[in-house]
Amino acid sequence: MMKGYEQLNFPKGSVFLVTGGAGFIGSNLCEALLHMGQTVRVLDDLSTGFLQNLNAFKDDINFSFIEGDIKDYEVCLGATERVDYVLHQAAWGSVPRSIEMPRFYEQNNVMGTLNMLEAARQNGVKKFVYASSSSVYGDDATLPKVEGREGNILSPYALTKRTIEEYGKLYYKLYGLDTYGLRYFNVFGRRQPPEGAYAAVIPKWIKQLLKDESPTIHGDGKQSRDFTYVENVIEANLKACLAPSSAAGQAYNIASGGREYLIDIYWTLAKALKKEIQPTFGPARAGDIKHSNADISKAKQYLGYEGAWSFEEGIREAIAWYIANHTEKHA
Ligand code: NAD
Repeated sequence: MMKGYEQLNFPKGSVFLVTGGAGFIGSNLCEALLHMGQTVRVLDDLSTGFLQNLNAFKDDINFSFIEGDIKDYEVCLGATERVDYVLHQAAWGSVPRSIEMPRFYEQNNVMGTLNMLEAARQNGVKKFVYASSSSVYGDDATLPKVEGREGNILSPYALTKRTIEEYGKLYYKLYGLDTYGLRYFNVFGRRQPPEGAYAAVIPKWIKQLLKDESPTIHGDGKQSRDFTYVENVIEANLKACLAPSSAAGQAYNIASGGREYLIDIYWTLAKALKKEIQPTFGPARAGDIKHSNADISKAKQYLGYEGAWSFEEGIREAIAWYIANHTEKHA
């Protein structure tokens, strides 16, 4: 825990607002900040997040929770009052779901973010750090992915992330709000939900293997991704809060900088869980790209990001967490 950000110091009395704090990444951010003795406020409408994600720290004296929707500007204004740092994670994820409901994605992810940016500006927030996504690279096949070389967008979800990056830049240029976009690449770790049609592969496969079911791999399994342990994402968010204004108005790749093939991940999980189950292969999914891995040198240079956790270290911790937290329930 805390490798890569244990030395960071924030001014005494700082207040952090984590939007989407009841979700996977947001709840991990809250936990880390509270562990460091910081004051944390969460704004979440519980649309895809869960109150139980807050259980570990909900009684902490430095923690407060606002149940509310970022589509409501008044809610955003209230939530950003006396806040120093906004870590804006609230959004709906999932490429396939966005293809089914593009209008909702625009309203929730784009309008919601614009509300948060404007509220942060009105309330004099110091730093506005927000979650973007590797999906902004679209169909550009060049590897590794480098900021500035983006292809055609392949889904409404990706378009929402590219649009909020443009708003992020504008708010820096027009209003001097220090914004930092973090393009996360396939994050995994504790509390990532294994359930539902749009679950991410690592928790979903772990859960299915624990239940002795055969997980489905979409396509041939030879797709590769830069799977990133959630601890690296925490490090990036906290370092962005302390980055100079000269690094604002930009988006940064946040990843491990490696490349894992889905089929290899499958067998890593099966071996770790001692299951000899063959996967089932299904059709490839629309909007999916074949390979993705990140050049992380920009974040290293301008944010001091290290990406201190390797994929192997992260997956070991994640598997242990899922075994400890899911075994009895699914036995
Ligand atoms: P998540 O679904 O677990 O968390 C998102 C949280 O935002 C949920 O708690 C949800 O209830 C909340 N939320 C959604 N719409 C809201 C609204 N209108 N008002 C208030 N709260 C709202 O997802 P996550 O995986 O933790 O993702 C967090 C952020 O990171 C998202 O912006 C996502 O697009 C981005 N991201 C995630 C990944 C990944 O691999 N998990 C990769 C790239 C980018």
